[in-house]
Amino acid sequence: MPRIVALRFGQVNCYLLRKGGHSLLVDCAPPGYERRLVRALHSEGLAPEAIELLVLTHAHADHSGTAEYLRQHHGVPIALHFEDVTKPRPLRTRGIAGQMLLTASKAVIGAQQRIEPDYTLEDGLRLDIYGIPAEIVHLPGHTAGSVGLLLEDGRLLCGDALMNFKAPSLCHIAEDFDAARASLERLMGMDITTVYPGHGRPFALSALLHDRTEQPVPTV
Ligand SMILES: [Zn+2]
Repeated sequence: MPRIVALRFGQVNCYLLRKGGHSLLVDCAPPGYERRLVRALHSEGLAPEAIELLVLTHAHADHSGTAEYLRQHHGVPIALHFEDVTKPRPLRTRGIAGQMLLTASKAVIGAQQRIEPDYTLEDGLRLDIYGIPAEIVHLPGHTAGSVGLLLEDGRLLCGDALMNFKAPSLCHIAEDFDAARASLERLMGMDITTVYPGHGRPFALSALLHDRTEQPVPTV
């Protein structure tokens, strides 16, 4: 099974998936983090050119800010769900955490450039061709084109569909919370073990049972 290496840039997690000689990057840090990202890759013994594909879980700039740099300077192709190949849509919030998060991320998301991917992603697309036994799971809600990457052993890289700020939860900001809840319901019916979120530490999907309804998210 692939090794997951978390690369943290401020509040944002990117993940490097490595198996045999294959390397795939999931999300790529906010704008301005180009040199830090390259340094982090080098410390993993990896030249940026060796990344076979950059999978963006969604188009928000805090996750995609160095994508164009990686493509132009290091030839890394970009994959993004076709629903996120547009200008970002307005975001709604839930709770105080959502309002704080939106305020904190507004400048970054507002500065977002439209991304023209080399490949468009869709639900069920497999990544075996890149040496990684995984498939794309469409998780609309946070954005219409949000995706997760599900490994065959049940580990899920979920982007911002789920978050772990003070506790594992559904996203606190979303284009469409009904869609986000439906995506969570779908995940609950799948064989998922550990979730690797775009923000916060990994957690067991079972820790989210309390967040399937409108109940307040407990803090730990
Ligand atoms: Zn986001």
